Amino acid sequence: MQDYRPLAPPNRRSRRRNTLHDFTLAELEDWVAERGQPRYRARQLFHWAYRQLVLDYEAMTVLPKAMRQELAAALPITGLAEIRRRVADDGDTVKFLFRTQDDHFVETVLMFYPDRTTVCVSCQIGCAVGCSFCATGLSGLIRNLSAGEMVSQVVHAARVARERERRLSNVVVMGMGEPFQNYDEVMRFVAIVNDRNGLGIGARHITLSTAGMVPFIDRLAEEPYQVKLAVSLHAPSDGLRSQLVPLNRRWPVGELLAACRRYVAKTGRRVTFEYVLIEGLNDDEKTAAELARKLRGLLCHVNLIPYNPTPAAPLYRRPSPERIERFRAVLEHYGIPATVRYSRGVEIAAACGQLRAEEEARRGRRTLVAVER
Ligand code: SF4
Repeated sequence: MQDYRPLAPPNRRSRRRNTLHDFTLAELEDWVAERGQPRYRARQLFHWAYRQLVLDYEAMTVLPKAMRQELAAALPITGLAEIRRRVADDGDTVKFLFRTQDDHFVETVLMFYPDRTTVCVSCQIGCAVGCSFCATGLSGLIRNLSAGEMVSQVVHAARVARERERRLSNVVVMGMGEPFQNYDEVMRFVAIVNDRNGLGIGARHITLSTAGMVPFIDRLAEEPYQVKLAVSLHAPSDGLRSQLVPLNRRWPVGELLAACRRYVAKTGRRVTFEYVLIEGLNDDEKTAAELARKLRGLLCHVNLIPYNPTPAAPLYRRPSPERIERFRAVLEHYGIPATVRYSRGVEIAAACGQLRAEEEARRGRRTLVAVER
């Protein structure tokens, strides 16, 4: 029989974390120690939560039965419950909708590529940035997600990848929300998924995508984690960009690109610019040339994303393949590397915020998004 003393009550100094997925390994060691348990129990918990991807303490057979029962009562492993799953692209795109403990909805997308398996994680419920082409932005910000709620999205995706004998290799924080408005929890999330004792996803395989919060680009450059930075640019001029990304009024294009140049100088790492191509708005050759001029000399790559029509912006259209190719060719002509990336899962409402808006409407909740049926 294993030697086991019941969990002692926590001392008053312990920080509140709601689920196992909220804890870094060091914090978990403190948590178990405060409850009178040996610190190695934390490593066992971490191993089972992230190497074995277990979502039920009962499966952690290395732990004494009494401890498993007490943990189940004291500290749920995850705060998310999957309530919907849609599959597209012959199974290569899987979109999840999760319900949080306080009855909100979170979207996550898992994408299988020949050479990698990527999960796109949400960091907020709703978003305050309000990009004009985005369903999530229309609903405003409800709240930040905790690190644990972000980690849970990764664990769920990793479990589904495992069913296909694939290992989750990449994490992009490009779902609902602006990561730099939830900076501390996002960095805690990075620490947890990066930990070699757990999921062990290399920092260079983790991408944070911002709409352009300049002070945090400088802050990220100082972090010990070598995560990748993506910036949603969408336009080279202030007039146009302010129309698409209202945050531009606070941090205009010139300031944003200057911050990106500082970031590259400090880290030596390339910046990825995301550029949604919208017909007749930001997709002409003159705009491409202006973009190229502004990015000249900056270590970067441009991802051109043909607009994926959503009910959020019914007047916006996707450009023709010829216009898309011309835009890309102009960038290439000026020496700016660019790739056209089509959104995955168009037929399953994979655009950011759509599935959540549908669920809110289904439940008769007020939503600012007109949902197509
Ligand atoms: S595109 Fe991103 S930053 Fe813009 S509103 Fe949508 S979630 Fe927020």
